Amino acid sequence: MLYFIIAIITFTSYFIFVPELLKHYWPEHVENKYWFQIISMQAMHIIVYIIVNASYGVIYYLNHPFFEQYKIEKKPWPWQTDKQEWNKLKNETFINFFINLIIGILLAMTFGLTGVKYRFDRQSLPNIWEMIPQFLFCILIEDIGFYWTHRLLHLPALYKYHKQHHQYIVTISISAEYSTVLEYLLSNLLPFIIGPRILNEKLHMMTMLIWIGIRVYKTLSAHSGYVFPWEIFQYIPFLAFSEFHSYHHSHNNGNFGSFFIFWDYLFGTSNNYYEKKLKDNYGILNIYNPQKKKQMI
Ligand SMILES: [Zn+2]
Ligand SMILES: [Zn+2]
Repeated sequence: MLYFIIAIITFTSYFIFVPELLKHYWPEHVENKYWFQIISMQAMHIIVYIIVNASYGVIYYLNHPFFEQYKIEKKPWPWQTDKQEWNKLKNETFINFFINLIIGILLAMTFGLTGVKYRFDRQSLPNIWEMIPQFLFCILIEDIGFYWTHRLLHLPALYKYHKQHHQYIVTISISAEYSTVLEYLLSNLLPFIIGPRILNEKLHMMTMLIWIGIRVYKTLSAHSGYVFPWEIFQYIPFLAFSEFHSYHHSHNNGNFGSFFIFWDYLFGTSNNYYEKKLKDNYGILNIYNPQKKKQMI
């Protein structure tokens, strides 16, 4: 119960403090929307990437039983199997992140504000009641887009472009963005940007920045390799939290969704996952119970 309360507090504080912080520093007039958009979006991406990965990094480094009890897979962490291989993979993962980041920047510079009518002014900064339905809309669009593009990348003809991401059989947070350029554009960027582009003038640039934070944090958490009881995702019904995506990496079978389990359930691509859960006498409820999982191990 205590962890659930902590999860609720941290979740809501993100939607209270981050908008307040952004509002405080929001410029009176955005002179150059083109550069403001490119720099602020990438800055948000990088800040969330560093803070979240550094937090998980400390937890991995501590290797403390308190945290390790929430580890999803029985298999060892990548650094515990082959140190040399791990160093190589770690370096490749960071280099890959910068390559994809530069491609994202170049793409934004090329297409820049083409067709973008987001609001940038201080006067119309959104309140939480404007933002919540817009986040839900962006999440639903992203989820549909990610499910299908991800499923597409698992077709034998296209899997070569996705294989890199699956080098991580036991996922860690930095593995989230470890992907080929094609996968990054098709599966990560495209489903993410469609929602805001549909909303267009209804969307304030500040909402866009907070949406980046949500998307980056969600994917880093989904790849963390842990289900912490103080993280909100496992408590949201029908949400595809880290255990769901961890199965995708460990079994390379189904569970293609990013935010929700709906599409996988509807198209039967999570059947094996649920069968395994039932076989392990673990239940199919979406609420994670590490105690039950421990008994099963
Ligand atoms: Zn995959
Ligand atoms: Zn993944």
